[in-house]
Amino acid sequence: MKVLLVEPNFPIPSKSKNHRDFLPIGLLKLASYHRFRGDQVKLVRGNERIRNFYPNQIKITSLFTYWSNCVWDSVNFYKGTYPNSKVIVGGIYASLMPEHCKQSGCDEVHIGIDNRVEKFKPAYDLVKVDYQIVHTSRGCTRKCKFCGTWKLEPEFTSKKSIKDEICSNRVIFYDNNLLANPYMKDILKELRNTTYKGRVVYSESQCGIDGRLLTPEIAKLLKQARFLNPRIAWDHGYKQRSMLKKQLDMLVDAGYPSNDIYIFMIYNFEQDYYEMLKKLRQCKRWDVQIADCRYRPLDQIYDHYNPRSKQTKDDYFIHSKWTDRQIKLFRKKVREQNIMIRHGFDSYSRDLENWGGQQRRKEKLLSK
Ligand code: SF4
Repeated sequence: MKVLLVEPNFPIPSKSKNHRDFLPIGLLKLASYHRFRGDQVKLVRGNERIRNFYPNQIKITSLFTYWSNCVWDSVNFYKGTYPNSKVIVGGIYASLMPEHCKQSGCDEVHIGIDNRVEKFKPAYDLVKVDYQIVHTSRGCTRKCKFCGTWKLEPEFTSKKSIKDEICSNRVIFYDNNLLANPYMKDILKELRNTTYKGRVVYSESQCGIDGRLLTPEIAKLLKQARFLNPRIAWDHGYKQRSMLKKQLDMLVDAGYPSNDIYIFMIYNFEQDYYEMLKKLRQCKRWDVQIADCRYRPLDQIYDHYNPRSKQTKDDYFIHSKWTDRQIKLFRKKVREQNIMIRHGFDSYSRDLENWGGQQRRKEKLLSK
């Protein structure tokens, strides 16, 4: 059988296609699965006719619901180009909104994780990256209302060990809630002692870590396992600050410089602009950076946000407690504050930002 695996033309800049946050890991596992079955596989990133390859099946992945139009475009393109092929859509949007996805004209919608495929190692040769993705767990033990994990992956499962999977010096965890894995201490000890091709292994997490599950022992193990840039979530109001401070102190005591730590914050959600400003200022006092995330509902099917123009809720989702101006101002303040913290500036200006960037690039070059 010939199988075409498709990543739609998501609005990701081409230089970021292989960024650790966007790798189409489901398609790469599917590629290995089909190769194992003896099928011929091709991966396409965008809408493209492949010469001398007429697929029997076309499997299209999907991401956020608000990028559903890209999925529909791909279905339309591949149905038109290969009318005799079966088109199947899977992934996040397909699983969260299967009825809507079906209306794209595809033949089938695959909901949730495909357990036949899950155990296969991703076919990294198709993308050529200098890192590997690891899931030590699936699902989550919590049910945050802004999050789709517990709908997409309702069962929480975890691995006891990952040492046999290591095939890179850089591991990116794609766990939804890394520390919820009851074997995480063992896994971090493994990583601490693991080398690949004679060099140590560094790790990072795509998602923030659940600070409520952090202990001084785990913070030390994270550091010893060369886990980079920890991000802890501050999901609720300013009154949570003493809890966050304890979590930060554990990381700092374990050896992380404060300005290497990020606080993950969702905005355009239930805490209004002024509450979020208090959190922002608190992060400045703590000298930690912010990883901000603009909230969109899980059934939002468009997002035409443009930071440079005035917009309305017809363009993108604006929470009833927020305005377009506040959303843009908050994003700008976060960006400027992060630059100040990253470079140790007392204030922000465009000239200082450029100078700080140049210094960083020089330091990187010198450290090579
Ligand atoms: S802890 Fe994280 S992954 Fe789990 S439900 Fe909350 S936001 Fe989602």
